[in-house]
Amino acid sequence: MTANEPITIVGAGHAGLQLAASLRQLGSDDPIVLVNNEPHLPYQRPPLSKAFLQGTADPETVSFRSQSFFRDQRINLVDDEVIAIDRFARKAIFQSGHSLTYRHLVIATGARNRVLQMPNADHDDVHYLRTLADSETIRGRLAKVKRVIVIGAGFIGLEFASTAAQMGIDVDIIELAPRIMARVVSPTVSAYFQKRHEAAGCRVHCGRAVAAIETANGRLQGVLLDDGRMLAADLIVVGIGVVPNVELALEAGLPSEEGIAVDEHLATLDPNISAIGDCARFSSPRYPSAVRLESVANATDQAKCLAARLTGLPKPFESVAWFWSDQGSDKLQIAGFFERHDEAVVRGDPDQNSFSVFFYGQGKLLGVESVNRSGDHMAARRLLAAGVTVCPSHAANPSFELKNAL
Ligand SMILES: Cc1cc2nc3c(=O)[nH]c(=O)nc-3n(C[C@H](O)[C@H](O)[C@H](O)COP(=O)(O)OP(=O)(O)OC[C@H]3O[C@@H](n4cnc5c(N)ncnc54)[C@H](O)[C@@H]3O)c2cc1C
Repeated sequence: MTANEPITIVGAGHAGLQLAASLRQLGSDDPIVLVNNEPHLPYQRPPLSKAFLQGTADPETVSFRSQSFFRDQRINLVDDEVIAIDRFARKAIFQSGHSLTYRHLVIATGARNRVLQMPNADHDDVHYLRTLADSETIRGRLAKVKRVIVIGAGFIGLEFASTAAQMGIDVDIIELAPRIMARVVSPTVSAYFQKRHEAAGCRVHCGRAVAAIETANGRLQGVLLDDGRMLAADLIVVGIGVVPNVELALEAGLPSEEGIAVDEHLATLDPNISAIGDCARFSSPRYPSAVRLESVANATDQAKCLAARLTGLPKPFESVAWFWSDQGSDKLQIAGFFERHDEAVVRGDPDQNSFSVFFYGQGKLLGVESVNRSGDHMAARRLLAAGVTVCPSHAANPSFELKNAL
C-alpha cells in the first residue's frame, strides 16, 4: 500500500457523502475518491417525495454541498460508476474504463426500487420515486394530471399521496396488506394515518391487489383491482419497496444475502472493504440478529462510525435506529425496534393528533412511535441509548416528564 492510494467510496448518497465529510472532520489527510453515478451534485432524498414535488425546493436546495465544498475539502468527486471490484489487486474498475487502486473501499451503493412485474408496468405514465431525476419527472407530470393511483402504502407512496392530495389531485392508494405501512408501524399508527389520508381526500384500498394496469390506444386508463373494480388514473406511482444494490459485493465474492454482510464495525469479510447505508446488512450489539435499515439516520450514523474506525478510533456501531416520515401535516418519528414486543401503551391521544406508542418486551423498553410529539421521540432516543426503561404506567401518563427517567 502507498500513502497516495485513496479511500474510495462507491456511491455519493447520504452514507457516502457523510463518510467523506466525517473523514475530513476527524482530521483524515488520506486522499478521498467519492464516486457519483448520478448526473447531479450529491443530494438529499427526503425532500423528493415532499417539498421538491410541490415546487418549494429545487435541485440546488436539495444538494448537500456546493462544488466548492468538494474542492476545499480535497474530496475527489468522480462522475462515474464502479462496475467491478478486483479484491486481490485492490482495484475498483469503472464504467469509463479506468481503474483505481484503493487503500480502503467503501460500498455505499444504497438501494433501488422494486419493480412491478406485470403487463403495462413499463408504461410512460407509471413512475417510481427514488432519484432526483424521478422526482423532476413526476413533478412535471403532476402539474397536468387530475387523478393518480399510488401502488403500495409504504412511507414513500404515502408521502407522495399526501403531497398530491395537497395539490388538489384525486388520489387512490392500493395496498396488498390489510393495513397501511404494515411492515413497519403498529396497528394504532396505521389506523391513525389511514384516517388522516382519507380526511385529506385520498381513497385507501387495503387488502387489494392490482389485477392489471389498463391502457387504451396507448393511453393509461387506470388499474383493475382483484375485486373487479376499475380505478381511473392519468398517472401511477409505484412504491412497493426497494432492493439493496449488492451486485458489486456479490460478484466480488462477498456474502450479500438481503444486504452486504458486515460486522459490528461495518467491515465485510475483506479487511479492505466496508459497506454502509441502505445496502448493508449489519450486526450490532443492540439487536439480536443482523438487520438492514433504510433511513437517513442509519446511513449517516454508520458513515460517522466508519469514519472513526478509518481514522483510528474503532468502536462498534450501536446507534439507536430512528426514522421520520412527513405525511401531510403529520410527522411520524420512530425510535428503536419493537418487532418482538409483548406490551404497548399509548401516551397522548390520537384524536388530538398527538400521541406516542411505547413498546416493551419482557418489561424492557424496545421502541417508541411518535406522531406529532417530537419531545417524546427525542426522549425515547435518549432512553434507548442509555438502556433505561420508563415503566409503562409512567409512559402512558402524559404529565410524567420522560426526561426525569434518565
Ligand atoms: C423519496 C424518498 C424519500 C425519503 N424520505 C426519507 C425520510 O423522510 N426519512 C428517512 O429517514 N429516510 C428517507 N428516505 C430514505 C433515505 O433517503 C435512504 O435511507 C438514504 O438515502 C440511504 O442512503 P445511502 O447513501 O445508503 O443510499 P442512497 O442515498 O440511495 O445513495 C446511494 C448512491 O449510490 C449510487 N450508486 C449505486 N451503485 C453505484 C455504483 N456501482 N457506482 C457508483 N455509484 C453507485 C446510487 O446511484 C446512489 O446515488 C427517503 C428515500 C426516498 C427515495
